[in-house]
Amino acid sequence: MFDVIIIGNGPAGLSAALYTKRAGLDTLIIGRDNGSLAKADKIENYFGFPEPVSGEELIRSGIASVKRLGVEMITDEVVNIQYTGNLLVKTKSRVFEAMCVIVATGTSRSTPKIEGLAEFEGRGVSYCAVCDGFFYRGKDVCVLGEGVYALHEAEELLPVTGSVTILTNGLKPSFNVPPYLKLRTEKVKKISGSKSVEQVEFEKGEPLKVSGVFVAVGVAGSTDLAKKVGAQIEGNKIVVDENMSTNVPGLFAAGDCTAGMLQISKAVYDGAKAGTEAIKYIREHKRA
Ligand SMILES: Cc1cc2nc3c(=O)[nH]c(=O)nc-3n(C[C@H](O)[C@H](O)[C@H](O)COP(=O)(O)OP(=O)(O)OC[C@H]3O[C@@H](n4cnc5c(N)ncnc54)[C@H](O)[C@@H]3O)c2cc1C
Repeated sequence: MFDVIIIGNGPAGLSAALYTKRAGLDTLIIGRDNGSLAKADKIENYFGFPEPVSGEELIRSGIASVKRLGVEMITDEVVNIQYTGNLLVKTKSRVFEAMCVIVATGTSRSTPKIEGLAEFEGRGVSYCAVCDGFFYRGKDVCVLGEGVYALHEAEELLPVTGSVTILTNGLKPSFNVPPYLKLRTEKVKKISGSKSVEQVEFEKGEPLKVSGVFVAVGVAGSTDLAKKVGAQIEGNKIVVDENMSTNVPGLFAAGDCTAGMLQISKAVYDGAKAGTEAIKYIREHKRA
């Protein structure tokens, strides 16, 4: 078991790790890639650089600094967080446990533009299998997504629902489709129904009759993960107090996944604050 697991190795996550590790906490960072900073070509509004610095260079230095301190880092994709008194963090292939988790996963990805998707939200369209799967007991549902995250959501739904079909919306699935799941790869045209979802229509081929559409496109975003563990969200942001605490004990959030400026300096501050608050939380719990 770790003291702290930090999800995300952007400026917020790396900054948090500098604090938790230097306070002697056993810290693991799980990151999928270098986040939005990797896309920034030149940065000239961040402290300490006489010449513009690339996002890649900044992140490489950030990673080197936490590694020098002995922070453990793995490249993996987190698909679920669960509160059990401690916090369980599930990745594509492993489950980790920690007293505290800091979510520093950047801004949530956008949802696909499919007619009917927004209209049927809460009436058949869901973004969380573990939260809403129960409402579809014995019913046929589908999962919209092409990645491992979609597979995870489908497997979560399978024991409770009648059947699960994965819809890749014209993309090639990035995983081997197990025989117990159905697959449709055609482009999705529309989600339709009267009071709630009744079917998915494709650009080619027969419509699929379903009662539920679970959206799991790409990677689990910040709000997807927050919803699964019961953390409050507003729009596409995780709600935190002034200490970067969420409403779930031991769960903190920092950086672009929380409200405020989408800037490196703000992410670094958030990470530092979440890290110091996680240290207090763990020390209090170890004393108790
Ligand atoms: C093109 C561009 C230019 C920019 N230019 C500037 C600039 O000049 N100045 C400035 O201050 N800011 C700039 N920004 C904004 C800045 O990059 C962000 O504000 C900052 O990177 C936010 O840090 P973060 O740690 O919150 O998130 P990110 O840097 O986005 O890091 C998120 C981390 O979470 C990981 N992650 C996400 N989901 C998962 C998952 N399910 N499992 C595991 N890991 C996951 C990602 O792999 C990544 O490591 C720019 C952004 C872009 C896109």
